[in-house]
Amino acid sequence: MSTIMAIAAHPGDGFFTMGAAVAQHIHNGGRGVFLSLSLGERGHPSISPQVYGGMQREASEKAAKILGAETAFLTYPDAEVPFNEEANFAVCDQIREFKPQIVVTHWSGSWHKDHQNCHAIVRDAIFYAGLPAIARKLPAHAVQSLFFADNWEDATSFQADTYLDISAAYEDWVKACEAFPMWRGETGFRYNDYYRSLAVMRGALSGFQYATALMSSAEERVRHVKSL
Ligand SMILES: [Zn+2]
Repeated sequence: MSTIMAIAAHPGDGFFTMGAAVAQHIHNGGRGVFLSLSLGERGHPSISPQVYGGMQREASEKAAKILGAETAFLTYPDAEVPFNEEANFAVCDQIREFKPQIVVTHWSGSWHKDHQNCHAIVRDAIFYAGLPAIARKLPAHAVQSLFFADNWEDATSFQADTYLDISAAYEDWVKACEAFPMWRGETGFRYNDYYRSLAVMRGALSGFQYATALMSSAEERVRHVKSL
């Protein structure tokens, strides 16, 4: 049973852009983990960060339960996720704890600094996690594959090369996303319309009913796969 771990700057990124791949992996018999570096608590135009952060955590837990996934959170302030050694080691420790074979995170071509930093942190954290000579509380763990998610905020130079069939997990994934107020458009962007349509569009391109497109970290191969 292999483990897939979505590592996102904000909970919405984890579930909306990486969540279908996690849902499908669980459907295929694997294990899924959502790690969010912040609660995305500054993302609502009228609800205070303190209240909204609680709502985001609650939504994440509800969504994870629907998918049969696990959640973990780091407590960096939204909009101030730092790219530094402390954050690299914090994520390294999470990787050593959950031992994923597959990691999905943000692509670097983002306008959002938290997303850019998350991308950089995950690259370093995977490197540190796999190095036995880096002594931490838990032993080294080598991640086998790293993918980047198709995110409307991280679209600069994003090149999809892996199309994952998510048809079997699509309904559960949508149900999970519905736990989030922002999915319904409360924060301005129509996430619901965008990401459901994207699954249809990627499906049309790859010959599946619904698909999630990912960008792999090293290869430039096009793959149409049933599982990662
Ligand atoms: Zn975000």
